[in-house]
Amino acid sequence: MTDRYAVIGHPVEHSKSPQIHAAFARQTAQDISYEKILAPLDGFAQTVAAMRADGFMGANVTVPFKLEAFHLAYRLTERANDAGAVNTLLFTGEGVIGDNTDGVGLVRDIQHNLAVAIQGKRVLLIGAGGAAEGVLHPVLEQQPGLLVISNRTLDKALIMVKKIEERGDFRFVSVQAQAFEDLQGQAFDIVINATSAGLSDSELPLPPGIFAPGALAYDMMYGRETPFMKFARLQQARVADGLGMLVEQAAESFYLWRGVRPLTAPVIAAFRA
Ligand code: NDP
Repeated sequence: MTDRYAVIGHPVEHSKSPQIHAAFARQTAQDISYEKILAPLDGFAQTVAAMRADGFMGANVTVPFKLEAFHLAYRLTERANDAGAVNTLLFTGEGVIGDNTDGVGLVRDIQHNLAVAIQGKRVLLIGAGGAAEGVLHPVLEQQPGLLVISNRTLDKALIMVKKIEERGDFRFVSVQAQAFEDLQGQAFDIVINATSAGLSDSELPLPPGIFAPGALAYDMMYGRETPFMKFARLQQARVADGLGMLVEQAAESFYLWRGVRPLTAPVIAAFRA
């Protein structure tokens, strides 16, 4: 019998997850189906309950339900707990297990696919929303030399830094929150745009010179050239979009569900083409 999975979101029509998981399933000869499910904005828990009753085995969760999924899960993986959000659900007899594969997806794309080591590097993380929170711990685990979080609403970046300081498990990494204007005169090896500014084609007020020679400019958005990417190209940075992260986080979900790790490179290449 075919095992059923889906991505739950609102909106969800744009999601590439069904094609990605179909490619993984073909490659690994796993008998699964993967659908898109539009949940009502006030009906996430009911949607999950109905899916479980219908025999689904798990789901991905996208905007705007990642926080609700975190609270719905009866058990969380450590990385979901660290992220404070859930993007992957595993349905078991006992209840719903919540995981977060976004951070590991980003780190794998940067380190493995783009061959840029994070250890010892000066990293700038722009944004303090769900995506930035989700990748913070996995990035810190790679022990960058410095991690600066910069956000339009500075308070949110300050809260993220405070939480890290309170936990105390990354005290060997210098973690700071800075306003955009305070970045003037500093250069970073890796700059990660985790804002949604690109969705509205908005420019980030970043000072020129923030890219060290040979720096990687990584935009979590994919499918379009954002103003951040254009800015980074003009500054001679190496530019990457978030397609690799998307495929890598999907591969990690697939592994959680099926116990088989698909090859991501051919899937990334196929989507790029
Ligand atoms: P949130 O809504 O939680 O956070 C949005 C963030 O963007 C906030 O930090 C917000 O700042 C900032 N922002 C929005 N507009 C602007 C602007 N005009 N100028 C400056 N800052 C702005 O969104 P998420 O964190 O969930 O998602 C962020 C992005 O990451 C999305 O584009 C999403 O598509 C992408 N993403 C990609 C993934 C992938 O697999 N490639 C996975 C997950 C996310 P403020 O706090 O001041 O409002």
